[in-house]
Amino acid sequence: RQAKRRTAGVLCFVPEHDRSQVADLSLLGAMRDGIARGELRLYLQPKLPLLPTRAVAAEALLRWQHPTEGLIAPARFIPFAEQTGFISELTTWVIDAAAQASAQWAQQGFVCPVAVNVSTRDLLDPTFADRVAACLARHRVDASQISLEITESALMEDPERALATLHQLAALGLDLAIDDYGTGYSSLTYLKQLPVQTLKIDQTFIGQMASDSRDAAIVQSSLDLAHQLGLRVVAEGVEDAATLQRLRAWGCDWAQGYHIAKPMPWEQFAPWWAWQHQPS
Ligand code: C2E
Ligand code: MG
Ligand code: MG
Ligand code: MG
Repeated sequence: RQAKRRTAGVLCFVPEHDRSQVADLSLLGAMRDGIARGELRLYLQPKLPLLPTRAVAAEALLRWQHPTEGLIAPARFIPFAEQTGFISELTTWVIDAAAQASAQWAQQGFVCPVAVNVSTRDLLDPTFADRVAACLARHRVDASQISLEITESALMEDPERALATLHQLAALGLDLAIDDYGTGYSSLTYLKQLPVQTLKIDQTFIGQMASDSRDAAIVQSSLDLAHQLGLRVVAEGVEDAATLQRLRAWGCDWAQGYHIAKPMPWEQFAPWWAWQHQPS
């Protein structure tokens, strides 16, 4: 317990301090001279947020505002786009839109990295990383402002080629995340060698976490594994306060879900951010 306190860097009040107080009084007299002699040292201890109480990033989720069909969800066109190869045009559009938003926000003085979902085809395209780089340059957006979410299945088709693209993207300075973790087949050995910083636990495990002890076990052990590998963990699909509370207690780093906010049109995002970040 003592050791834990020390590593946490917390100054504790212990009885020894009490007993030496008299001796400290004489030391105090010498302190005036100590200041004059330049004997004081400034120490700093880093502080970091542990709780995701305020948004720090966003995920880009594509919708199609069809003139007669209305707003169409990605489940209705992404699989089709992937089959036909049209997906690379969609991905290009999304990355471009995200970079454009980022550039505009930078002018308004706020910083919010945007994550874009990429598919298998993108990762197997040897020109993909170059196209991403060109897009960032065109909008004068730093690579730290765009991150990419990759599903496990996207890595399985041709792991070597996908890995080569991931390394190119990582070299550009993009943050990479494994999306829908737990639903694919990636082995732990494989996970170990990926140049990713983040693991997103799939919402199917998060949704029932509070009621199903098996889901809870999967989430907890994924958190443990990811943290041991030095990865940040994002829980997706957080729909209620109880789940968020539990994830916090388990040390989950970030959360996403309807309980916090539903995906919103990008023009609404800056006002939402301002509202959420106002001093309480
Ligand atoms: P994903 O990347 O795993 O995104 C999370 C999905 O869960 C999104 O659905 C999001 O709206 C939804 N979601 C977020 N919070 C909650 C919650 O609390 N409860 C529930 N039930 N759902 C929640 P969406 O927007 O319909 O997207 C579905 C999938 O389509 C995405 O899953 C992603 O794989 C794909 N997708 C979306 N946009 C793009 C894109 O631009 N490119 C590609 N390649 N795929 C995309
Ligand atoms: Mg995603
Ligand atoms: Mg996901
Ligand atoms: Mg998903």
